Amino acid sequence: METHNFSIEFFPPKTPEGAEKLRATRRQLAELSPTYFSVTFGAGGSTQQGTLDTVLDIMADGHPAAPHLSCIGATRESIRALLKQFQQHGIRRLVALRGDLPSGYGGAGELRYANELVEFIRQETGDWFHIEVAAYPEMHPQARSPQDDLQNFARKVHAGANAAITQYFYNADAYFQFVDNVRKMGIEVPIVAGIMPITNYTQLMRFSDMCGAEIPRWVRLKLASFGDDSASIKAFGLDVVSSLCERLLAGGAPGLHFYSMNQAVATTAIWKRLTGK
Ligand code: FAD
Repeated sequence: METHNFSIEFFPPKTPEGAEKLRATRRQLAELSPTYFSVTFGAGGSTQQGTLDTVLDIMADGHPAAPHLSCIGATRESIRALLKQFQQHGIRRLVALRGDLPSGYGGAGELRYANELVEFIRQETGDWFHIEVAAYPEMHPQARSPQDDLQNFARKVHAGANAAITQYFYNADAYFQFVDNVRKMGIEVPIVAGIMPITNYTQLMRFSDMCGAEIPRWVRLKLASFGDDSASIKAFGLDVVSSLCERLLAGGAPGLHFYSMNQAVATTAIWKRLTGK
C-alpha cells in the first residue's frame, strides 16, 4: 500500500460532539498513514463552513487534507471566494464535483457540470490545486449512455483534472473495463478506486439505490440472510471488500479511496487485511 495512493473520506460533522468524535476517529485512521483525508461538501454550499473547518482541523494535526467542492446551485463569485479562502489556508488539493441538489432547491446555478467547475478553477487559480474528479465505472445514473458518460468524464480531464476517484462498486470488472475505455481515449490520469466498506445492510441498499452502485445478487442475498446479525454482516463485508481491494490493486489500480462514513473500524480492518500489518 505504501506505493499506492490511499485516501480516506469524511463528511463534516454537524455538532460539536460530532466534531470531537470525528477527531478521535481520524486519529485512529491517521495511524494507517493515508496519503490524505478528504472532506465532502454539501451541494448548494450547505456544509461550506463545516467542510473548511474539518479540513483545517485535520491540517492542524499535521495531515494533508482536501476539501470537496461542488458547483451546482453556486455562482462563480461564491466559488471564487471559496477558492481564495482555500489558497489563503495553504490547501493544495481539491475534489471537484457537480453535486446533487436536494429536491425543491432552486436552479442549477452558473456552472452546470463538473467540467465547467474544473475549467473555472484552472482559470482562476492556474496550477495551484491538484484536482481530482469523480468517475463512474457503472455509469452515472443520469447519463444517457455509457459512451456519453465516458465523453463527459473526458471533458473533466481535458479541463484540467489531475486524477479521478470512482464511485464505489463491488464489481472489479466494471472498474477494469472503465479504465481500459478511458485509456483507449488517450487519457492517462490515475483512476483511484472508491471503496465502500460493508457494515450495515439497510444503509448500503439505500445508498446504492441513490448512486447507482450495483450490489451483486450473491452479496445481497447473503447479507439479507444475516438479518440483524451485525457481526456476521461485518465479517462477510470485510471478506468481500478486502478481496475486491486485493483484486483491484493486483490489476493495476493506482490506489484506494475509502468512504469511511466517519467510522474507523471497517477501513482499518480492510487496510490491515491488505497490508498484513
Ligand atoms: P458531472 O461530471 O458533471 O456529471 C453529472 C452528469 O452529467 C453525468 O450523468 C454526466 O454524464 C453528465 N454530464 C457531465 N458533463 C456534461 C456536459 N458537459 N453536458 C451534458 N452532460 C454532462 N456530492 C456532493 O454533493 N458532495 C461531495 O462532497 C461529493 N463527493 C463525491 C466524491 C466522489 C469521489 C464521488 C464519486 C462522488 C461525490 N459526490 C459528492 C456525488 C456527486 O456529486 C454526484 O455523483 C453527482 O450526481 C455528479 O457529480 P459529478 O461531479 O460526477 O458530475
